[in-house]
Amino acid sequence: FSMFLRFLMVFLVSFTIRRKNLPIPTLHSSFADMALKGHSHLTFEKNEHAAKDFGNIHHFMPSAVLHPKSVSDISSTIKYIFEMGTTSELTVAARGSGHSLAGQAQAYRGVVINMKSLREPEMSFHTGELPYVDVSAGELWINILHESLKRGLAPKSWTDYLHLTVGGTLSNAGISGQAFRHGPQINNVYELQVVTGKGDVLTCSEEQNTDLFYGVLGGLGQFGIITRARIALETAPKMVKWIRVLYSDFSIFSKDQEHLISSDTSFDYIEGFAIINRTGLLNKWRSSFNAKDPLQASQFNSEGRILYCLEVAKYFNPGNSDLVDQNIDTLLSELNYIKCTLFLSEVSYVDFLERVHLSEIKLREKGLWEVPHPWLNLLIPRSGIHEFAQEVFGNILADTSNGPVLIYPVNKSSWRNRTSMVTPDEDIFYLVAFLSSAIPSSKGKDGLEHILMRNEKILRFCERSLVGVKQYLAHYGTQEEWKAHFGTHWEVFSQRKSTYDPLSILAPGQNIFRKAT
Ligand code: FAD
Repeated sequence: FSMFLRFLMVFLVSFTIRRKNLPIPTLHSSFADMALKGHSHLTFEKNEHAAKDFGNIHHFMPSAVLHPKSVSDISSTIKYIFEMGTTSELTVAARGSGHSLAGQAQAYRGVVINMKSLREPEMSFHTGELPYVDVSAGELWINILHESLKRGLAPKSWTDYLHLTVGGTLSNAGISGQAFRHGPQINNVYELQVVTGKGDVLTCSEEQNTDLFYGVLGGLGQFGIITRARIALETAPKMVKWIRVLYSDFSIFSKDQEHLISSDTSFDYIEGFAIINRTGLLNKWRSSFNAKDPLQASQFNSEGRILYCLEVAKYFNPGNSDLVDQNIDTLLSELNYIKCTLFLSEVSYVDFLERVHLSEIKLREKGLWEVPHPWLNLLIPRSGIHEFAQEVFGNILADTSNGPVLIYPVNKSSWRNRTSMVTPDEDIFYLVAFLSSAIPSSKGKDGLEHILMRNEKILRFCERSLVGVKQYLAHYGTQEEWKAHFGTHWEVFSQRKSTYDPLSILAPGQNIFRKAT
């Protein structure tokens, strides 16, 4: 039987390789050996999904996909490839949800590890003064939310969309409207289990294997595959008061945002977005928000204007709604928004956190979810934000934008400063996210080429006129560009690479290091 299985594997692999026109090195027999040594969770066929991501622009076909059932499936695969040394070209990419934008979770002719199939450890909760949950890194944040809520708990810091894996967001940062207070998700982790590029399984935290711990957080998958994470929890609220107000003046808008993030007794969530030349805006809001002053709001005309929306939320439980209303009134009275544009809504905590998923459902119905997403995410130092807004919103984007443009400040003091993530070197910086969708066949303003050119214009302006701007979820073509991205942090980053993944096996799709062969 084992002879038959071996023959079948060799046949399948060489068939796959021929079909995809890949070179035929020793790859097929190696993989067949691996499969026979117990790696029966490798697939060689129908792996096209692993060559796709949310960006829908870069597609690199892997040779195989591993569907690990245990951490040792991952460590023995990596160890096996590591021991082949420079004789093998094989690389390994962990794939969480595959919501990357530019092939970061792909591995051309390599092995993609489907982290969602890793079901160990089972989610386990620890209550007490500092509650936390231990989860598999392939777990989706939405599942963690639902399980935590059964115990009256929830993670503190989120992304705007929860159908992403723990390993995927911790490899970047995980930033949303709670980050001004709690820092990004990489701040709210106590411990990790990591499989390094040599196949070693290590536990790391602020006390143990500290360098690896900080390296992996925001480490773009370069130093190890996160297999388990211990995530900080807090008491969960049941409900959310969700508020939007508009500004026509960027200076007043950003002054108010900065005022709000400076206070400990502020809102629980603070974001904002730019609105460029949109008609009927407030009418659209009416399906989910109530205008405080419906008559005045109905007369407000958003057409042909650049507006800025401050979006804030206050958590509450049914018993303390009135008290929270008073608190909100006080906070709002300190702001200078256009008075008739106050819109309020009350939703459950889950519905609030699932807001982008609700949009996903609608966009999927219209066939507008699986389109190219040429997103551009920037971290702009406070000192440059006004010049940035003037040029980008007033000039480069003056005609149209192809999706939401988020803009909100965070406090650097609430971010861990030893992680791999690089941020601008100022106390306050802004996340600006151009979340564009392209219409696949369009050659016009909605087309991919036009949006990519516009992104390029924005980047060139930042390079030319501003100091200290960093890209978030970046993708560069050369190592030189990565060096510039990391700046003074490059030495530590590359040192960590040679310590934990000396052959550059991991996360080749980030395009930072090339495997030595
Ligand atoms: P993948 O795309 O699968 O992987 C991302 C990178 O991490 C790859 O290099 C991969 O190899 C590596 N990786 C994956 N799993 C592991 C692991 N276990 N160990 C080590 N490396 C690993 N980001 C924010 O910060 N804030 C937001 O509000 C936000 N909103 C978003 C909304 C949408 C609709 C989308 C599509 C993305 C959003 N993102 C946001 C970006 C998102 O956080 C990143 O794209 C993230 O990487 C997605 O997680 P994933 O599980 O899909 O990762």
